[in-house]
Parts: sequence; C-alpha cells; structure tokens
Amino acid sequence: MKVFVLRLGHRPTRDKRITTHVALTARAFGAEGFVLAGVHDEKVVKSIKKVCSIWGGSSFKVVTGVDPISYINEWRRGGGLVVHLTMYGIKVDEVIDVLRSSCRELLIVVGAEKVPNVIYELSDYNIAIGHQPHSEVGALAVFLDRLFNGRELYFIYSDAKIRIVPTEKGKRVVRIG
Ligand code: SAM
Repeated sequence: MKVFVLRLGHRPTRDKRITTHVALTARAFGAEGFVLAGVHDEKVVKSIKKVCSIWGGSSFKVVTGVDPISYINEWRRGGGLVVHLTMYGIKVDEVIDVLRSSCRELLIVVGAEKVPNVIYELSDYNIAIGHQPHSEVGALAVFLDRLFNGRELYFIYSDAKIRIVPTEKGKRVVRIG
C-alpha cells in the first residue's frame, strides 16, 4: 500500500522540530512520502534528507508548499483514500482492518493547532487514536503501527550507509558497503 503523510499548519518559527519528527516518524514507520502544506521550510527538508542519506530512503518523497485542499482533492480523484487523525474521530479499531484490506493509496492528514472544518468534511475517515489530546507524532506512530501490524519495524532500507546491531547494552553501529 502506498502511504503518504500530509502535515497541516506548520509554523516555521515554532514547529521545525515537531514537523521534522512527523516526517521522520512517517519514514521510519513505513510511509513512502511526506507532504508539508502551505509553506516550504528548507530546514525541515534538509533534516529529513540528511537522515535519508545516512539511514537510507532516497526513495522517500518530500513535497512542500502544497495547497492542502487541492492536494486532498487530487489524491481522492486518483482513487486514494484520505484519513484525518483527530481525537474527535471514530475509534481506530473500527476501521483499520477495512483500510488495510481494501485501500491501495492512503493519505494520512495530521494537524498542528486547530484544523479547519473543511478537512473533517473532505476526509473519508476522521480517526481517533484514543479520545485524549496528545500529539501528531504519537497519533501517526500508533496509526501506522496498527496499519502495518508491526511489520514496519523490521523494514530495512537497501540504500542505508549504516545500520544498528541491536545490543542489550551500549551502542553498535556498522557501516555498510
Ligand atoms: N485539539 C486538536 C485537535 O483538533 O485534534 C489537537 C491538536 S494536536 C496538538 C495536533 C494534532 O495531533 C492533531 O491535529 C491531530 O492530528 C493529532 N492528534 C492529537 N491527539 C490525537 C488523538 N487523540 N487522536 C488522533 N490524532 C490526534
């Protein structure tokens, strides 16, 4: 399944770190691309590219400055589904099996502060990861882990330059190639 993450409401003065974490979580948990709505933030893009160049993922797409409404409409016109993660939505367990078995292209929308009502209306599903307020990073990680049934944690990027050797204590990192 092709999965992209659309991040709304990024404020370059305040959100660099959390937006970068949304993108890195998307990459590490099995999404193929990250889309930043509204603005281009070179610092965010540079951080993601740097991780991809060392840890692999040159195929991971990063798109910035898109109009979110047009992007969502275009995604749906192409036959893809759109889910918006929000604490006001329906329980993730109610829909995750249907999404996993029937969807070929999935756009996951996460917000920052208040998300405009139109996003709730345009999305095929508004999905809650519990009904408590927490974070776009937490919501995205749990959603992707449920979607991929945990298999994403075993994914290896073939173009990685380094990889971790799991150890009980300490740190072991090996260079590849
Ligand atoms: N009151 C906001 C709302 O509308 O959900 C919370 C803003 S929160 C700081 C930023 C983003 O985290 C939200 O736009 C949503 O994508 C995600 N989020 C936070 N809590 C969530 C939850 N319980 N379930 C799903 N997504 C959540």
